[in-house]
Amino acid sequence: MTRPYAEVIGDPVDHSLSPVIHRFWLECLGLVGDYRARPVAVDGLAAYFADRRTDPAWRGCNVTIPHKLAALGHVEDRGGVRKSMGAINTVLRESDGGLIGTNTDAAGFYAPISGMDVAGVPVVMIGAGGAARAVLFALARAGVGPVTILNRTLLKAAGLLGDFGLKGDALPLNAPLPPAGLLVNASPFGMTGQPGLELDLSPLPEDAVVYDLVYAPVETPLLAAARARGLDTVDGLEMLIAQAAIAFELFFGEAPPREIDAELREILTR
Ligand code: NAP
Repeated sequence: MTRPYAEVIGDPVDHSLSPVIHRFWLECLGLVGDYRARPVAVDGLAAYFADRRTDPAWRGCNVTIPHKLAALGHVEDRGGVRKSMGAINTVLRESDGGLIGTNTDAAGFYAPISGMDVAGVPVVMIGAGGAARAVLFALARAGVGPVTILNRTLLKAAGLLGDFGLKGDALPLNAPLPPAGLLVNASPFGMTGQPGLELDLSPLPEDAVVYDLVYAPVETPLLAAARARGLDTVDGLEMLIAQAAIAFELFFGEAPPREIDAELREILTR
């Protein structure tokens, strides 16, 4: 039988770190299998799924820009991901050729802070796009306190609060920070080639955690400022690896060896 494989599809997809992560785990576990990057254009999405549906070696795929919404039209949405997160990032093939869509971003975001008691904790988040949706989905389930969203488009931020039944405020990007116990950057600010976030972190309490979803670079100006203030930080690679781990287990049926994350992080930041 042909060896099992999974893919990441997108356009462009060359930049994706997913093949590095999944191949690292396949090799460490000694599993027979492969994980590839597959460029798929917008007008090729239907043909891609029609083809893969009949291939028993294909376990599924991760989905990146620009297919995260459109892919929902080709899969079953058993978990109601369309309504909750509005997009999928993972497709699984069932043995009868059925395709199931899911989104591992919310659980991937939450995994690194699962040891933190966030119930009732005030949160501040920058950004109100796709990643912000996954963050709020997870935080709403964890019962966080009021959420202040700083965003360019206030209506979008207010809409997100309403969608997840959260109390809080939508404020402009230059508003002073509230005294939140968790600060999350879910915007592209701080990414290589983008301006960094220039926030005055002094209103945050000493035990606040600063979590940046940006992973290129790993040490963003926001995380550097938080560390300089002595705050605990979580970087974007932690979420990237955690969401990939969930997909890996769904594709290949084994949990990846997370005890060697340090080795994987070293490879990803070379
Ligand atoms: P997105 O949907 O494009 O989010 C865009 C957000 O950024 C919106 O809130 C948008 O404001 C704001 N924004 C973009 N350009 C802006 C500008 N020039 N000025 C002011 N605001 C601007 O992106 P996303 O998919 O949510 O991703 C956000 C970040 O999270 C990216 O850096 C991505 O790499 C990272 N991410 C990381 C992981 C991980 O595993 N670590 C997973 C997912 C995403 P408006 O609402 O006003 O348009």
